[in-house]
Parts: sequence; structure tokens; C-alpha cells
Amino acid sequence: MSLLDIYVLGAPILREETRPVTDVGPVFQKLVDDMFETMYAAKGIGLAAPQVGRTERVAVVDVEGARHVIVNPEIVLREGSQKGEEGCLSIPDVYADVDRAMRVVVKAQDREGKPIEIDATELLARCLQHEIDHLHGKLFIDYLGLLKRRAALKKWEKLRAGDKSLTRTIEALEVAQHHHRDEEL
Ligand code: ZN
Repeated sequence: MSLLDIYVLGAPILREETRPVTDVGPVFQKLVDDMFETMYAAKGIGLAAPQVGRTERVAVVDVEGARHVIVNPEIVLREGSQKGEEGCLSIPDVYADVDRAMRVVVKAQDREGKPIEIDATELLARCLQHEIDHLHGKLFIDYLGLLKRRAALKKWEKLRAGDKSLTRTIEALEVAQHHHRDEEL
């Protein structure tokens, strides 16, 4: 397995639509394994293919031990609402409250292409909605009102300190120094 670079806000791939996965062969499965490794190294709870520069419609999540690969996912039911703080591995250290459905039912395929259905609430539901958005070029900051969105982007620019690179490399040292709250998706 290998660690993949994570694309950050400003990278066009984060705004692109993904393509349905039709071949879950060894090349695809290696991508999934690398995504898990990268997500764990970055201490995230979810990671979608566009975040590692890929157009396959796949994301990985691990919320409180609930570990899922979602291939070609679709939300078939949304219920209730929850407001909570969200972050993103592609916009590190920027957090904002986002309204999401409290419960979602997701139909997808797993790493081997087998059909699965995930019935999720609370943080797992939030994470699934966030990742599925990524697969359609959408980011959590898109849900913010004008002023909060502007504040988030301002903070991002400040944190970037003029750095224009569109990827970040996850390294052991960075993980140690990075004081996120294990809530980046
Ligand atoms: Zn994200």
C-alpha cells in the first residue's frame, strides 16, 4: 500500500463529477486500500476518490469502527436533520456547522462489487453525505451562508500563507503536529 497525496481546495478535480466504477479488479482494489491507508494516516474518518485526484465513484469511511467502502453510492432515503461541525481533509483546519439529514440509507457496492445497503444515523450519516457530495463535486463549504463561507475561505487563505500547491503530502511528522479533531472527512 502507499500513501496518496490529498488534493486541496482550489484543485479542479474536487469540483468534477466522478464516473461510475465498472471494474472492481485488482487495480481498483489497490486504490481502495491506498485510500484507507491515506485516510488513517491523515486521521480522517472519510475520504473520497477526487480528494486523491481520481475520478472513480468511490469513497471510504471509518466512523467509530464502522468501516465501509462505498462504490457508486446513492442515497435512497433521507430523514430528519442534524446540525454539527464538519471539516474536510481537503480544507484542513477549517471547520463549520453544516445541516445534514439525521438518517440516510445508502445503496452502493462494496470493494468486491457486491451490493450493500447502509442504514446510518448521526456521525456516520453525516460522513456518508459528505463523502457522497465529494463524488459529485460538492464541498461542505457550499452549504454555508455567504458570511460564514467568506470567513471559512479567509481562514483557509490565512492558513495557506501564500502556498499555492494543490496537493498536500501526508507524512508522519505532519500527522503528529497537526491538531485536528479527528473530524475531517
Ligand atoms: Zn471532505
